[in-house]
Amino acid sequence: MVDQQSPATRRVVLKALPLPDAIPVGVLAERMDADPVSVIKQLMRVGVFASINEAVDYETAATVARAFGFSARQAGDQSQRAASSAIAELTEGENVQSRPPVVAVLGHVDHGKTTLLDAVRKTSVAEGEAGGITQHIGAYAIEHDGRPITFIDTPGHEAFTAMRARGAQVTDLAILVVAADDGVMPQTAEAIDHIKAAGVPMIVAINKSDLDGADPERVRRMLAEKDVIVEKWGGDVLDVEVSAKTGDGVSDLLASIQLLAEMAELKANPRRAAMGVVIESKRDKSRGAVSTILVQTGTLQIGDNVVVGAAKGRVKALVDDRGRRVKEAGPSTPVEMLGLSELPDAGARLVVVSDDKAAREVVEGRQRAADERRATTLQDIGARAASGETKELPIVLKTDVFGSVDAVRHALESLSASEAQVRIIHASPGAVTENDVLLAAASNAVIVGFNTRTEPGAKRLAGQDRVEIRNYDIIYRLTEDVEKALQGMLAPTLRDVVEGRLTVRAVFDLSRSRRSAGCYVAEGAVSRGAMARVTRGGAEVFDGPIASLRRFKNDVRQVQNGYECGLTLEGFSDFQEGDVIEAHRQQAG
Ligand code: GDP
Repeated sequence: MVDQQSPATRRVVLKALPLPDAIPVGVLAERMDADPVSVIKQLMRVGVFASINEAVDYETAATVARAFGFSARQAGDQSQRAASSAIAELTEGENVQSRPPVVAVLGHVDHGKTTLLDAVRKTSVAEGEAGGITQHIGAYAIEHDGRPITFIDTPGHEAFTAMRARGAQVTDLAILVVAADDGVMPQTAEAIDHIKAAGVPMIVAINKSDLDGADPERVRRMLAEKDVIVEKWGGDVLDVEVSAKTGDGVSDLLASIQLLAEMAELKANPRRAAMGVVIESKRDKSRGAVSTILVQTGTLQIGDNVVVGAAKGRVKALVDDRGRRVKEAGPSTPVEMLGLSELPDAGARLVVVSDDKAAREVVEGRQRAADERRATTLQDIGARAASGETKELPIVLKTDVFGSVDAVRHALESLSASEAQVRIIHASPGAVTENDVLLAAASNAVIVGFNTRTEPGAKRLAGQDRVEIRNYDIIYRLTEDVEKALQGMLAPTLRDVVEGRLTVRAVFDLSRSRRSAGCYVAEGAVSRGAMARVTRGGAEVFDGPIASLRRFKNDVRQVQNGYECGLTLEGFSDFQEGDVIEAHRQQAG
């Protein structure tokens, strides 16, 4: 079924409202200058039951904000993003309880991350415990001294930052594993930058201390060179010597984790509708789509209606990290969830809603938020820096050779205009990699390359995550652009991005002169507001704006590949079956 009519268009002017990843209802009301009770009522209308002190996620807040005449956008400011580190931290009220810390393990390859995660799991699974065999579900919970700790067991900053890049910060604290016989290596340095950019506290595990060649003091010195100063050296970073192989020191490491967790006063409210994040997901032959959810606040229960990313479903079964079926999962608990028809991405956010109608509204809100998410560009951040909206211009810097890293970094850091300043969140020699793009996406940074290239995978990811990569081969051009950006004077660079490819399967007459095309989205997606390039036999016949986009009889914002839709264009009706339509858009950067 495809569209038969063209829709009436309505234009509403909305006020801009920057919002963090999660916001307490009371604060949201305050920012909109609205009565909290009416905000709570509006939340109920979209199926979210939250009290004034409880936090709602960005998309939910954005959906509600729209009803109050605001167009929300994700706050780029680092301090606001850090606030999302624990949705639960924002929750207050009588039902709030402390919750276990969620820990990620990062470090250079072969320094023992996997072995350490295994050792931790082994020390803590009580012997003879029923169902003691642990399953790999992407995260596991252990107990130390009777208190629980949750570990994300996909080690490495790829997973850590990929989730942040999708807008989900699940980790409360990071363990940096450094081999005592090897010291700080390139990925150690990269991991340090990723942890710092995330704003989470870290503990250093100096591993392989059983080896003859182990030299923990050398590790501490090398860390100090990277501005990670351990306590013994007068800093505030805890470090523990361990051997993942013999198990020595692992118990001290767990005690240090609990110490930091206590200081962080991690809180959640188990008695509210659950919010969580997808840690990983897979398609299982017998069970269908299986996703591991880390519950952040609330309690997830069988039968709950959920929205996960852009998919909706109903919780059919929950399985814990020991393979046991459970009825519910509370804060900081990882569980496998069955009941979604589609596979969500790692980092996708879960919310529990009252019914299917509410689920649809949340999905729509999320799609709108995704549509409206602007690319992070030098020009854009510059304009915000110049207007005082943000005080810094975050940059990921890549250069050709090791020797030029510091020189370019110094040149950039010495630039500043009014109150705004360049902040280099990571700088290293080599090509621009996918990790660089993820880090930039997670930190709303731009990537600046000097005499270097971009890996093809990174280029693809940058397009998808709307991260700007700017390459320079002359240093003064680079500094000139960044300086202009800081002053808010950089002109935008636009490029054309193809978002989707459609084939015309049928043509319908709407009136004597107007026709619509019944299309199949073969690649990517098509969204309202995009341009459509109609080609026939490889030759372009028209290029112009999309006037309407429908699925069945409904106007929609976006149609993904694999689906059919109806399309009308402004100024063109002469479709023919077999035409290929490219949905494209001018994008900054
Ligand atoms: P990852 O790449 O960081 O996950 O490192 P792995 O956990 O795979 O460990 C790399 C290698 O170091 C393996 O051969 C481990 O057996 C070894 N290894 C890990 N931890 C220790 C340790 O504490 N002592 C010794 N001697 N070897 C270790």
